[in-house]
Parts: sequence; structure tokens; C-alpha cells
Amino acid sequence: MNISIIGSGYVGLVSGACFAELGNQVVCADNDKKKINGLKKGIVPIYEPGLQELITNNLKNKRLKFTSSIKDAVKAGEVIFIAVGTPALENGEADLTGIENVARNIAQNMDGYRLIVEKSTVPVETCVWIKKTIATYIKDKHKFDVVSNPEFLREGSAINDFNHSDRIVLGVESAKAKQIMTDLYQPLNRPILITNIKSAELIKHASNAFLATKISFINALSRICDRVGADVKEVAQGMGLDNRIGRHFLHAGIGYGGSCFPKDTEAFITIADKLGYDFQILKAVRNTNDEQKRYVLQKIKDSLWIIKDKTIAVLGLAFKPNTDDLRNSSSIDLINALAQDGARIKVYDPKAMEKAKRVLKDVTFCKNPYQAASNADCLIVATEWNEFKELDFRKLKKRLKRALIVDGRNIYDPKLLKKLGFTYIGIGRGNE
Ligand code: NAD
Repeated sequence: MNISIIGSGYVGLVSGACFAELGNQVVCADNDKKKINGLKKGIVPIYEPGLQELITNNLKNKRLKFTSSIKDAVKAGEVIFIAVGTPALENGEADLTGIENVARNIAQNMDGYRLIVEKSTVPVETCVWIKKTIATYIKDKHKFDVVSNPEFLREGSAINDFNHSDRIVLGVESAKAKQIMTDLYQPLNRPILITNIKSAELIKHASNAFLATKISFINALSRICDRVGADVKEVAQGMGLDNRIGRHFLHAGIGYGGSCFPKDTEAFITIADKLGYDFQILKAVRNTNDEQKRYVLQKIKDSLWIIKDKTIAVLGLAFKPNTDDLRNSSSIDLINALAQDGARIKVYDPKAMEKAKRVLKDVTFCKNPYQAASNADCLIVATEWNEFKELDFRKLKKRLKRALIVDGRNIYDPKLLKKLGFTYIGIGRGNE
């Protein structure tokens, strides 16, 4: 099929490259000319495992093209995916300017039937607005369909998630749209759920809100564990072995971050408010997450007493491992809070250093964990990269001024670290 993808970020690039790999002709478009010029030369602006190879190969075999002309993209694809960003506005609502802009552009440039697929995460009823917008700006009376096809990929394992997703959700209104979309996804051989458009739109927000709820639940539980001397990892394991609960998203830590959960929970709360429903569970989820960040900060303060002029090493900047994405990263929030209290911060991340240089000022960027630990009063693990799971603790201890580890992701064995002479602070591991 001829496919165009408008918005070439984490979602657009991964989807575009994967659809090309399946044998489709794909055009990825973006209004960021610099990004597109780089992509034309095979320079991938984000770190996502396997993406560079996929883009290089499909550029070479000419199944994948890049353009900064939305007009060209609209002409090229019979199926047009919208994958632009939908960031949060000040009031928590999703900013849908990009979506409206693209819908208008599609209307003005389509020269025949088009199937417009909404892939960005958007409030329920956005597709109604896309349809209205296209109908308003369309020049000739070409036919079109709108489909909601929310994306569930996770950064860090996005290609695998695209190819092996638990489900593909298609909110459709016409038989033609249903046929095209099922034909497109059929080679992946994954479960396809056909729903009406509004249900599909809600499935995305509902799923993210539910996952955020699991994280906040276990974070709240970590507070109880610390108070009574229980280990939240054991409690989570015991809960997770129950199939009705499942073990995923039950990892206590420094609070969820990233480009989706904070923004999507906030947007969902706002949508519910607008619909006249006070979504109290979700408000508690958000508040617990904010509280968790303060709790971790307080734990650090309780161990160091005075933060001013202390040297603190932070391992991990990305909001999760295997990505360089720093959007709403809890690590960055923590660093900013500590810096505000006068700490000297040294940081290291395997992939996110370049991006971090744009957002972090007055911190020392280090070449490896040991350089970061050198002469530090405390070492914080903020992202659970595999590299940090296999540190040489003896070497680390020699470098640190004080052998204090704050394990913000609970990746270490407290007993082992204590045996090696560290003061160990985990999250919900029984030490308040
Ligand atoms: P991103 O910021 O990485 O990419 C968005 C791209 O859209 C940018 O390159 C931007 O330049 C481009 N863009 C914005 N407005 C445009 C316009 N008017 N015309 C053309 N291009 C435009 O964002 P992302 O992480 O890829 O997310 C995209 C959407 O997918 C969001 O709604 C997000 O919530 C959702 N989503 C993201 C993930 C994820 O893990 N990142 C997962 C599922 C869903």
C-alpha cells in the first residue's frame, strides 16, 4: 500500500519504518525541516533500538522516503496516518493544534479518496473534529474515511511492540475503511479489535490511565512497606503472581514520567471534567505520583541532612531504559530539585547525554558511572539501565566519598550492598 505518515517522531518513525519493512511504500513527513533533512541522509534523531538499521535498509531499497512537504505526503499516500505530537497545555488539556493543522492540510491537498488514520493520543471525539475539519476545507468532493488507530508501543522496545503488539485497535465507521486497515495489519498476524471510533479513542486513554494507576498503587504501597519494614518487591511479586493482577507495572520507584503517562492522565482528567465527571481515582493517581517524587527527595535529604554543597551522582537521565527520551523524566525533576537546594550534580546516562545537555545546566556530565561516583556524597540510580545492574561495587565504593546508594528503581539487593559496606536506601525496601 501507499502510506503517508505525518509526524516523524517516536511513533511516526517507528510505524513508518515498520510498515516499510512489511513491503509498503511509505512517506514520512514532518514540519521540522532540519529533522527531515537529516532523515533523508539516514540520520535518525532519536535513540530507539533497531530503528537506525530499519530506516537505513528501507531508505536504501526505496520503500521509505522523507519529506517536509505535507502536500507531497498527502498526494503520495492513500492511507494517511496522523502521528504528530499532542503535548499538554498549561491547563492539562491536550494541545490539538497539530492535529487540526494536519487535517486542514489533508483536506486542501487530497486529490482522490483518502483514509485518514488518527494515531496520536487524543481526547475522545477528536475524530469527529477531524472529519468536520476535512469536510470544511476540502476543495473537491473527494470521499474520505477517518479511523482511530491508537498506538501502544513503548519507547525502548517500540519495534518489537509494533510487530508483536498485544492488540491492534481499529475504530472504524465504514466497511471500506475496515477492509483497508485489516489488510494493512494482516501481515503482522496480531489480534485485531474492531470498535466504533469513540471506543477506540477511549481505549488508549483508559489503558494508559490504568497502567499509571498500577504504578501509583505500588508506589503508595512502598510507603507502607517502608514504615513497617516490609519489602515492596516481595509484596509486588506476591500480588503479581495472581493472574487477575499480573506482575507488570508493579515496580515502585521515583514516580512515573515520560512523554505519555503524565500528559495522558492529565488530559483524561480534563476530558472527564469537561464531560461533567469528577475522575477522583485518576486525580489520586496523579497526586500520588507527585507525592512519590517528593518522598524520594525527602529520603535523600534525611540521609544527607544538608544538601547544599554536597556532591550527588545521578545514574540515568532518560525516563526509562533503552531510550534517550527525557520528556517529563522523573530523574530530571529530581536533579532540578537537588540543584535548587545547592547540590553539585554529576550525571551519567548511556544514551541520553546529548539531549540532557540541552535541558540540564550546571551539572557535570561524566563518561561512565565510576567517574560520576568519584568523590560523591551519594549515588542515586534514577533509571534502571542494565548497565547499572552490573556495576563493580567495590570499585564504586572506592570512588565515592561516602558509600551511600539511593536505589530509585529497586534494582539492587539491599543485603548484598549492606554486606559490601554501603548504606542502602531503596523505595519501599523497609527503610523510611
Ligand atoms: P514526537 O514529539 O516524538 O513527534 C511528533 C512529531 O510531530 C515531531 O517530529 C513534530 O515535529 C511533528 N509535528 C508536530 N506538528 C506537526 C505538523 N503540524 N505537521 C507535521 N509534523 C508535525 O511525539 P511522539 O512521541 O512520536 O508522539 C506522537 C503522538 O503519539 C502523541 O500523541 C503521543 O502521545 C502518542 N504516543 C506516543 C508514544 C510514545 O511512546 N512516544 C506511544 C504511544 C502514543
